[in-house]
Amino acid sequence: MSAPDLVVRGARVVDGTGLPSYSADIAVRDGRVMQVGRVDERGNVELDADGAVVAPGFVDIHTHYDAQLHWEPTASPSSWHGVTTVITGNCGFSLFPARSEDVPWLLQMLSRVEGMPADTLAAGATFTGGGCADFAANLGAPGLGVNVGLQVGHSAVRRYVLGNAAVERAATDAEIGEMVELVRAAMREGAVGFTSSQLDMHVTHDGKPVPSNLAAPDELVALAGALSDFAGGAIEFISRTNLEGHSADDRALMLEMCAVSGKPMNISPLHPLPTQPDAWRSGMEFAEAAHQAGARIYPQSSTQQLQVFFALADTFLFDEMPAFRDTLTLPADERTRRLADPVVRDAMRAQWADTSNRAVVFRWEAIKVARADEHPDWVGRRVPELQALLGSADELDAFLDASLAEDLKLVFTLAGAPGRSSRAATAQIVAHPLTLPGSSDAGAHLSSYCGVDYTTRLLTEYVPDPVPLEAAVARLSSIPAALYDLRDRGVIRPGAAADLVVWDPARLAVGPTRWVEDFPARGGRFVVDAEGYLALVVNGEVVRRDGADTGARPGAVLRPGA
Ligand SMILES: [Zn+2]
Repeated sequence: MSAPDLVVRGARVVDGTGLPSYSADIAVRDGRVMQVGRVDERGNVELDADGAVVAPGFVDIHTHYDAQLHWEPTASPSSWHGVTTVITGNCGFSLFPARSEDVPWLLQMLSRVEGMPADTLAAGATFTGGGCADFAANLGAPGLGVNVGLQVGHSAVRRYVLGNAAVERAATDAEIGEMVELVRAAMREGAVGFTSSQLDMHVTHDGKPVPSNLAAPDELVALAGALSDFAGGAIEFISRTNLEGHSADDRALMLEMCAVSGKPMNISPLHPLPTQPDAWRSGMEFAEAAHQAGARIYPQSSTQQLQVFFALADTFLFDEMPAFRDTLTLPADERTRRLADPVVRDAMRAQWADTSNRAVVFRWEAIKVARADEHPDWVGRRVPELQALLGSADELDAFLDASLAEDLKLVFTLAGAPGRSSRAATAQIVAHPLTLPGSSDAGAHLSSYCGVDYTTRLLTEYVPDPVPLEAAVARLSSIPAALYDLRDRGVIRPGAAADLVVWDPARLAVGPTRWVEDFPARGGRFVVDAEGYLALVVNGEVVRRDGADTGARPGAVLRPGA
């Protein structure tokens, strides 16, 4: 036998099964783990991991890297935080299936809903239409730094069948039948799941609801049922009423989607919200009741301390208020004119003040300037201070006047750290056996926040209390791999795929959040740094070492069961 391709030597192995950790060497050949124990032979590549922890690479179940992977195949910054497999197409927003003439529309919708610069997507995305296999082939051709599991999104499927009517009306039985066939085709071609969402907040670039929001329950049930013939497959879904813990109708809908498909479903994250600090309990009770009834419904947990940034030029944060939404989705010139119009401002003022039936409520004192290219002295000032500085009549005027002075590119941040009660609630959510670490939204909301640090925060802030290290690693690796039927991934054992992450437990930390402009068409994004990760191995090749990309591109598009 030839020498191993790689030996990870002397690490503390947390193997992903939940077994207590142990010390061992790991030998790798041909992309697979060949031995775990004592390895005497030298590898062609040796990783000295004395004092370090080695675990299966993490599987991020909630990403929106569908576009980014076209020009940035390492899925940064997720890979900086130990992720070796990303699941894409969440919330209904895959780019396939697509007629070639619809690709720009899907990219613009993605840009608006998931907060990515439209110019960047137009310049960087090379997909020209087709189904799951076409998308996978195009993505994989230049080489990938991570593995990717593709989900097929409801909004893309609906656009394909209904065209422009997808954003206007319910589907007929015949149209639902066509959509079911498209979901089946995607699954046959290797999709790992089906996704949808029905948030009122999701509005397309032309101010219409996203296609999936127009779907009646029978359409969602039929599309979920399309998965029943397949051995693998999972569903991701965000209900219309997720923030208040799901209405009775939405609960019944989700249970039925699970029943007809026989598949697991991961659902929107549970957050202790400042405005509704206990609403998450109701979502948890639903998951517990579903579990009692035998369904597999798993809410995501989130450990990130999200610092939200936004600019009026491209934010979706205010889309719950029609006066904001209808104005901010207009073409640039008209938008500028209307934002200065006192009548429009009066409507905005009234809706801002009426907080009933709103998921997100803002306080002017909590909004402060984070970046101002032309007025650097505004940075750090809260809206009431801006009002005094600009002599505006009230806070709304100050907010809009300041934004208009920088062509709506003035960047604000929402101030205020989570308090102790929120930490206690998050710890309960994170430790609950029915939750899945997730909700990174990686690749999305690029100018608002960066949530890829959930892995590192789980390991540094919630381990060992309330979650033991072995359990935390299983939740980041073998459990999501099992959910998506990615066999022989998420565990370290002979024969398993060699996706590994190695870190120094003494140095592991979340680094600063930074703004970088490294995307096509000078697109920018927030990234969160990581410290203490020593190596990342994908399919047996070292893709990151000591915090730097090695240039290796061994990633693959994974199919369920493979
Ligand atoms: Zn999402």
